[in-house]
Amino acid sequence: MSDLSRKVIVTVAPTGAWPSKKDNPAIPLTPQEIADDVYACWQAGAAVAHLHMRDAEGKGTMDTERFKETVGLVRERCDIVLNLTTSGDLNATDETRMAHFIALKPELASYDCGSMNWMHNSLFINHPAFLERLATAMNDNGVKPEIEIFDAGMIYNSLYYQKKGFLKGPLHYQFVLGAAGGIAATVENLVFLRGLIPAESTWSAFGIGRGHMPIFYAALALGGHVRVGMEDNVMYGKDRLAASNAEFVERAGRVIRELDKDLATPDEARAILGVAKR
Ligand code: ZN
Repeated sequence: MSDLSRKVIVTVAPTGAWPSKKDNPAIPLTPQEIADDVYACWQAGAAVAHLHMRDAEGKGTMDTERFKETVGLVRERCDIVLNLTTSGDLNATDETRMAHFIALKPELASYDCGSMNWMHNSLFINHPAFLERLATAMNDNGVKPEIEIFDAGMIYNSLYYQKKGFLKGPLHYQFVLGAAGGIAATVENLVFLRGLIPAESTWSAFGIGRGHMPIFYAALALGGHVRVGMEDNVMYGKDRLAASNAEFVERAGRVIRELDKDLATPDEARAILGVAKR
């Protein structure tokens, strides 16, 4: 395996819980569409797939059967690292937020390290008791938490859970900038957040919507990993919808190679993150 310090993990987040076909007709929503999309992104160089499911009406769901079907289709075709959301439906119970990763044992699952007002219209609740249960269930099932940080206080929460033994280092962070209710997508904020995490941590970042490109370039310049995809951004440029998620991955590959770095393969991503193939 070559020098991992020169490898950048590109995560694709193809679906999310919110965007619809009205926002971008190319967004994948069914298990088959998501699996086909993930395969195309893997071919384009994505090492990790962060997956959300939708129900028959296209609404976010934590339905384990949907995750099973999709993950089965993905695993048949490629070795991409799987990162399953634990926050795909604001009305899900604590149990349904964990049942899918207990059944499927992906390498990674999201760990949203605090609660917040969400999009100025609802609550995104991650109760302290739930965060303890979630970390314990992840540890018991060999699933590494990807600690999603929407604001600076969530980093301090993560340090508390590490001190208490629920989160085990080296920690892996995903900085989410530009979600309404969280920290804004500015380069200064990314530099600030990165300065708060333990030195041995790995981290990735993305900006939502208009903040996508500044955060993408800044994360790469700071030595981080990056996330792209329609969960976060349905526009390729100011006036054009993305043709596909793979188009974002292809752009990431071009920029990373221009930086004299290279895309991490899925196995290189596992080595960087310290997770075993499942
Ligand atoms: Zn997500």
